[in-house]
Amino acid sequence: MRIIETNRSVGIFTRIAHLPHMTQEFLAVLVSFGETFTRYLPISLALAVVFTILTSFWACNPGKPWWRKRDIVTDLCYWLFIPVVARFLRIGMLIVGAALLFRITTADGLVAFYDNGHGPLAALPLVAQMVIFLVGEDIILYWTHRLFHGRRMWRYHAVHHSSEELEWISAARFHPINLLLGGVTADVAMLLLGISPNVFVVLGPLTIAHSAFVHANLNWTLGPFKYVIATPVLHRWHHTAADRGGEKNFAATFPILDVLFGTFYMPKGEIPDHYGIGEREFPTSFQGQLVHPFTQ
Ligand SMILES: [Zn+2]
Ligand SMILES: [Zn+2]
Repeated sequence: MRIIETNRSVGIFTRIAHLPHMTQEFLAVLVSFGETFTRYLPISLALAVVFTILTSFWACNPGKPWWRKRDIVTDLCYWLFIPVVARFLRIGMLIVGAALLFRITTADGLVAFYDNGHGPLAALPLVAQMVIFLVGEDIILYWTHRLFHGRRMWRYHAVHHSSEELEWISAARFHPINLLLGGVTADVAMLLLGISPNVFVVLGPLTIAHSAFVHANLNWTLGPFKYVIATPVLHRWHHTAADRGGEKNFAATFPILDVLFGTFYMPKGEIPDHYGIGEREFPTSFQGQLVHPFTQ
């Protein structure tokens, strides 16, 4: 899931920069939790209502409602914590990236650098920047996603695939390492290229909604538009076993990438079912899943 509010995040750091170090960190975490919670609560409630209604009419796999799924507490933990974790990882990577690539090391320098983007990309109209962002980020995410399906990185990505009852709320289930080298890296790459953070402010809620949409328990394929934008059926195939659709449909937003690279999978007249990774010992708790990749 891709959530960004970079200029505000950098602002928090500059406001509390004069406080003692430990207090700074503690306050930054508290402020971040509070802000994230108040910002994402309305959209979370809206998604819950919308997908409850839609699933009652067009369920892909009819059964119990999302709030009665087995791992609901685990998914709620991810839904609550992942935006905060993503925010801190993003800020860290933005600071490191600006220092290494542009030799910017002061708080004021960072704000000036990221505030409205920089270079030729920032001079383009916002709509043009949005298109570049969506396409650029999706290409990065496609390849990082494929990387995470490789032997070395799978242990981190297995967390995302561990949901056996796939629902809209499963969308946030990502191990922090997956988050860092996936969505956060893609976001930071686009910001370092010069894209304005205003693009993220506009597209942030839409990308959350779309990510929830592709995980939602819906039988929607969108007919001929299945090549235009990722749908629930397309992505639910990706959550099936490796010998079915589990090694296909890597694109987050634009399935044309899967068509181009030979990984598009949507068999006609079939609907995906049986999700998860089929490992009995795989932990189902939030804290268990955070630790699990490091025990492999
Ligand atoms: Zn995957
Ligand atoms: Zn997924």
